[in-house]
Amino acid sequence: MSHAGTPQEAHDGGDAPAVGGSPPGAGRGSGSWASTPAIRKTMLGNRSRDTAPELRVRRAVHAMGLRYRVAVRPVPTLRRTADLVFSRARVAVFIDGCYWHGCPEHYIEPARNVDYWRPKIARNRERDAETTAALTSAGWRVLRFWSHEDPHDVAGRIAATVRTARSEPGS
Ligand SMILES: [Zn+2]
Repeated sequence: MSHAGTPQEAHDGGDAPAVGGSPPGAGRGSGSWASTPAIRKTMLGNRSRDTAPELRVRRAVHAMGLRYRVAVRPVPTLRRTADLVFSRARVAVFIDGCYWHGCPEHYIEPARNVDYWRPKIARNRERDAETTAALTSAGWRVLRFWSHEDPHDVAGRIAATVRTARSEPGS
């Protein structure tokens, strides 16, 4: 499984960077991966979209005949964008990058700037939890997956949730 997702574009203006995988060199002790202006700028950016794991999930979900919106706010007044949004079914899906969201299997603390990155990742996780709670209380079903998870497995779980949601009266 590749973890080579590259942050590409920033949006939302929030404080939640999210990319699909580990930055180059993360955990190798080189400490150099945040050293170039371009990489650092990207890492300081906001939630990225169109990462490789996310694209694979989107393709798989699309192939199952489900249609969704990408990188929109499930609840317009709540300044949080989900990666896949099923508006009618009220299902919001997040594909959390293993690095930025602190995946227990893959997050490796960088060798340098620990004082910067540790609280930053912790804030991301707090923000993830807040987003889930806010959307849930607004009547949405929230699904979160790690970017390392099998895209077809993820797509199957998304489809099952969307179908359940659609089958419920008043949902
Ligand atoms: Zn992971």
